Amino acid sequence: DRLPTEDRELIARREKALGPAYRLFYEEPLHIIRGEGVWLWDKQGRRYLDAYNNVASMGHCHPRVVQAIAAQSAVLNTHTRYLHDSIVTYAERLLATMPDALGHMMFACTGSEANDLALRIARRVTGRQGVIITRLAYHGVTESVSELSPSLGDFVPRTSRVRLIDAPDGLRVSPTEQGAKLADDLAQAIAEMRADGIEPAAFLVDTIFSSDGLYPDPAGFLQPAVDLIRSEGGLFIADEVQPGFGRTGDKFWGFQRHDLVPDMVTMGKPMGNGFPLSGVAMRPELVQEFGTRARYFNTFGGNPVAAAAGMAVLDVIREENLQENSLSTGAFIKNGLEAIARNHPAIAQVRGAGLFLAVECVSDTATNAPDAALATFVVNYLRRNGVLISASGPGANILKIRPPLVIREAEAQILLDTLDDAFTAHHTSTEG
Ligand code: PMP
Repeated sequence: DRLPTEDRELIARREKALGPAYRLFYEEPLHIIRGEGVWLWDKQGRRYLDAYNNVASMGHCHPRVVQAIAAQSAVLNTHTRYLHDSIVTYAERLLATMPDALGHMMFACTGSEANDLALRIARRVTGRQGVIITRLAYHGVTESVSELSPSLGDFVPRTSRVRLIDAPDGLRVSPTEQGAKLADDLAQAIAEMRADGIEPAAFLVDTIFSSDGLYPDPAGFLQPAVDLIRSEGGLFIADEVQPGFGRTGDKFWGFQRHDLVPDMVTMGKPMGNGFPLSGVAMRPELVQEFGTRARYFNTFGGNPVAAAAGMAVLDVIREENLQENSLSTGAFIKNGLEAIARNHPAIAQVRGAGLFLAVECVSDTATNAPDAALATFVVNYLRRNGVLISASGPGANILKIRPPLVIREAEAQILLDTLDDAFTAHHTSTEG
């Protein structure tokens, strides 16, 4: 066991204090104590390139965001039932990034709460209960939303109000069929739901299908399914927790890549660069009755400190041209990954948009059988060599690369070189 004694003791204390529900990353868990930009430092002072963090999207401890949080904390931090300019200005700025039809913004603290709120509104306004999601979706952890997170595993109970459909599959379904297949699967799920007496309230998707294995292309393939849910009387909710805030490079929001106007948009994670902040943008009509009768209060959501953090994030994205950097550095990484794939047949496909990339590892190039062991080897090899990524997808064989948006080419090259080494090392170890 290569772990320092101190870390082994901390793991034991952690298990005792936190119980069994928490998981650590990596075969050798990391004890991180400091972060700056794309870098993280462990207790021994060793530096790691963070190529996985989509919360600290503006870079770890971005001084502008830290300063905004500190300055506002020193002046006033209370809830949203007093007049304060910040929540209004922040909402206006977020809405300015959205299609005109989305005219209201409501705030919470986590992505789970944002989806929970969107769901409550959708069920209220349609008077219906059914929700359709993708097979390995993740939308959060509250009692109502956990049944919309099949990627949590079979243990989480799911009621008949929720139906699963296949996510797009960039490897096994041709790009031209992607849109029609998704719409057909949705139609079938709606029919099955109706056979059980349940009407569809909403189709809820992460518009980059992050936990399903990352399926960004071809841009536009979501349209037929969205047309269908509307024609069946349901709403389309875009979960932008993963692709939002410039991550995909070409657009600020993932749904914009599909040229869609959602009925509601949920957001979180990078929104406060680590400060807990989430929200829902919506068509004003949807929330009229809910708003006057049910009302909404979230003690911390949208407080002056949260709004300050959120506005600093918007400033940083604009002033540091992070969306443009996501596009250009993302393309640089994608090209590099494609070059690596040419030398390593175990890589069946490289896909991605901006700084959100996936590498699909297979054990058999003829059948594309998932190679989870290879993905696990690569993830842990990288960790031992100072680069942090992870793996996901139904076969746990899809490497997920998602660095902070401030990553530049020199740092990206470290990621590429180490990844190339990892595949070579695996090849050597399995041959030897
Ligand atoms: N939706 C998506 C697509 C997510 O990836 C996540 C978090 N991984 C959530 C919702 C839930 O966000 P939170 O953990 O802030 O509740």
